[in-house]
Amino acid sequence: MTDQVVIITGGSRGIGRATALAAATRGYRVCIGYASNQTAATSVVDAIEAKDGKAIAVKCDVGEERDILALFKAADKLGTLGALVNNAGIVGPTSRVDEMSAERIQRMMAVNVTGSILCAREAVKRMSTRHGGKGGVIVNLSSAAAKLGSPNTYVDYAASKGAIDTFTLGLGYEVAGEGIRVAAIRPGLIDTEIHASGGEPDRAHRLAAHVPMKRVGTADEIANAILWLMSDDASYVTSAILDVSGGR
Ligand code: NAP
Repeated sequence: MTDQVVIITGGSRGIGRATALAAATRGYRVCIGYASNQTAATSVVDAIEAKDGKAIAVKCDVGEERDILALFKAADKLGTLGALVNNAGIVGPTSRVDEMSAERIQRMMAVNVTGSILCAREAVKRMSTRHGGKGGVIVNLSSAAAKLGSPNTYVDYAASKGAIDTFTLGLGYEVAGEGIRVAAIRPGLIDTEIHASGGEPDRAHRLAAHVPMKRVGTADEIANAILWLMSDDASYVTSAILDVSGGR
């Protein structure tokens, strides 16, 4: 058990929500960010408080630096930051690259890549022993798409997750001597609403037959891996990327 703070971007639904609930059961004070769905965010806070946990929800579009600064400022009031889960991520509608607008690609990179890097920057400022901090863990959400490339679906999204993989390696090396571990999870097809936001609610189930384990994964299965990376059981794990994808 810990009484440290964890910040989970995009903690209102899907993998972020499952991670928030699991972190609270381990004693974390949970600060979730959400983009717009205040009802979903409030329900996560209510569920944690119903079990005597501590949680707050902060509206934070990780595509906006000022929102990120406000998120971390709010989390500072909860206590000492021990972990950041860079979970917020978006996909676009199914599309070929030769059909994509510049605005779509820029938004994809702003949210999935720049947002994660800026959140990590704020976390390092607070966690690094170089800055007087006590160390901590940063877990980034990549995707199996980083390996597959997602042709004819969303190559821009896949490329953003490739950037997250490289960022995980580099930042991990950079702060390894400062008490901070950095790792990434590459989920496969997980049963969340992200597929509907890309215009294809049944995508995960449609492709399940192509997964070696022949099924989609659950948000809880990803949360369990994230919580393991955050724990002392993973104390020698850094700059590591873990596939949680049923073999995909
Ligand atoms: P999801 O069900 O669509 O939930 C997305 C969460 O992110 C929500 O809490 C949403 O907030 C928030 N969000 C969306 N845009 C945001 C923004 N600009 N700034 C801050 N928060 C934002 O997604 P998910 O499936 O749980 O995915 C979580 C992460 O896992 C993502 O990085 C995704 O790329 C990665 N992943 C997912 C899968 C999968 O199959 N599900 C596979 C591989 C990787 P609101 O509730 O306010 O909208």
